[in-house]
Amino acid sequence: MATVETRELVKRFDGAAAVDRIDLAVREGEFLVLLGPSGCGKTTLLRMLAGLETPTSGDILIGGRVVTRLPPRARDIAMVFQSYALYPHLSVYRNIAFPLKAAGMSKRETEEKVARAAAMFGIGHLLARKPRQLSGGERQRVALARAVVRNPVVFLLDEPLSNLDAKLRTSAREELQQFQRGLGTTTVYVTHDQIEAMGLGDRIAVLDHGRVHQLGTPAAVYHDPADIFVATFIGSPPMNLVRTDGVLCGFRPEHLLPLSCIDPAEALAPMPMTVTRIENLGADRLVYATLGAPNPETKVISRLPSTIDLPIESGRRYEFALCRRNFRYFDPQTGVARPAPS
Ligand code: ATP
Repeated sequence: MATVETRELVKRFDGAAAVDRIDLAVREGEFLVLLGPSGCGKTTLLRMLAGLETPTSGDILIGGRVVTRLPPRARDIAMVFQSYALYPHLSVYRNIAFPLKAAGMSKRETEEKVARAAAMFGIGHLLARKPRQLSGGERQRVALARAVVRNPVVFLLDEPLSNLDAKLRTSAREELQQFQRGLGTTTVYVTHDQIEAMGLGDRIAVLDHGRVHQLGTPAAVYHDPADIFVATFIGSPPMNLVRTDGVLCGFRPEHLLPLSCIDPAEALAPMPMTVTRIENLGADRLVYATLGAPNPETKVISRLPSTIDLPIESGRRYEFALCRRNFRYFDPQTGVARPAPS
């Protein structure tokens, strides 16, 4: 276990900053997710932590020690890539044993460690196979077993689940979380999938254009986004944004409900609206609408749980509302969150 820190970390490619002065402090044993759209700099940041990419400026510390100029092998980290990077000509056993062999470990100790890692990931019966004889999920487990086998102080994972189908992804997510908790190894995990980020991360760093917009718990980035980018990147559908009295107001679709469904003791913000489209998702209905005065033509989305069984039709007007405490406020110029106007 170790802390991971970056200080004013910058990486430029041909003059353009892929990582732009990032200060990050990952706690011991923490599962930190780097989340952001394609091209935001997640992989570049992870590769710098691993020692596979040299920073243009700034520093990286692992366990309090400056490692910025150290090669990957001197950092005591293990990295798992989206592609798994298994050696195709080696058996599963030899793939997992590879880092131990490279470190000069005895045959007996290697056998023990490989057996333990294989058992941990439920792949003990696959040790004689070659990677091409495995499913995507099995390959992923081999890659993870190879990463844990030498007990690194930090795991760096780059979209390790993205080759799996939706069902396998869910179980792999659960497994991964269990292993990480069990081992207590500090983990930095890259993904562009917010469900994965929300489900796995102790904290999430939300990145865009090489900068961290917010570093917080899944609940914090969802409920109290630091700016409009986070508010609209996190959540599907994203946070609604409505301009009122020179301020941008944000609210989550699940807070916008038919007036009759809200406790009248709450301070309410009425939102009369005309429904334009309804999507029935089973557990929820997404109600797309445009607001009436004073925000005509502003589009909003309401998420109604199926337990709210009111008939709602496209093309009709309804009285919707939300509790004022569910409003979030943003500066319309900078997009940064601000306190409620007094
Ligand atoms: P994705 O989710 O698509 O993998 P990402 O957030 O991981 O994206 P990076 O791969 O870190 O993004 O890339 C960040 C930026 O740096 C992009 O604009 C990319 O084109 C650029 N970039 C990355 N590697 C190089 C390179 N070796 N040479 C030049 N530009 C690069």
